Amino acid sequence: MRKRLGVLLALSFLAPIPFAQAAPVYVFPIVGCNVHYAHSHHDYPATDILGKIGCKFVAVTSGVVDEVTSVDKFSWKTDLGSQRGGLSVSIVGDDGVRYYGSHLSKIAAGIKPGVRVKVGQLLGLLGDSGDAKGTAPHVHFGISWPTPKGIWWVRRGELYPWRYLDLWRAGKDASPAKSVAALEAKVGTVPKHVGY
Ligand SMILES: [Zn+2]
Repeated sequence: MRKRLGVLLALSFLAPIPFAQAAPVYVFPIVGCNVHYAHSHHDYPATDILGKIGCKFVAVTSGVVDEVTSVDKFSWKTDLGSQRGGLSVSIVGDDGVRYYGSHLSKIAAGIKPGVRVKVGQLLGLLGDSGDAKGTAPHVHFGISWPTPKGIWWVRRGELYPWRYLDLWRAGKDASPAKSVAALEAKVGTVPKHVGY
């Protein structure tokens, strides 16, 4: 028995990659709360995940913090697209995909551009900031590709996320990386903003 155990241990040191690959790479972006979302979104691809103010919004995969908006400057008078999200965080995952959450009520301590985050790490708390004020609190979740700073119309979402949200919620691993890359190749990294 002891000899067999030794062989198994030796094998596990020789072949660590299959064990590493078995670890989850993606998680659902809200933890510890009952939330719901529709398989639709107004005007452009994204998903609004509805829940209570204060629910934890976490990194869906490991990566680096991209842009953070920590002051809500939105006003209906100006209705600027760049400010509609209120408090928001975007990260660029190790998969090369950008993930964005907005209408937050709080940004987590230490979440700043360039900071490395691990899958499941707290990024902020669900809220109703920006143009969500007075509506059902939610995290607006967007999937896109990295762009230069301030390209909010790409950052807010380019690929419909709910297919991935459904899988992550069910504990299944699925990456949007290929679909995002194909979309970026089709429309360009900074397509012109049209519409809403
Ligand atoms: Zn939305």
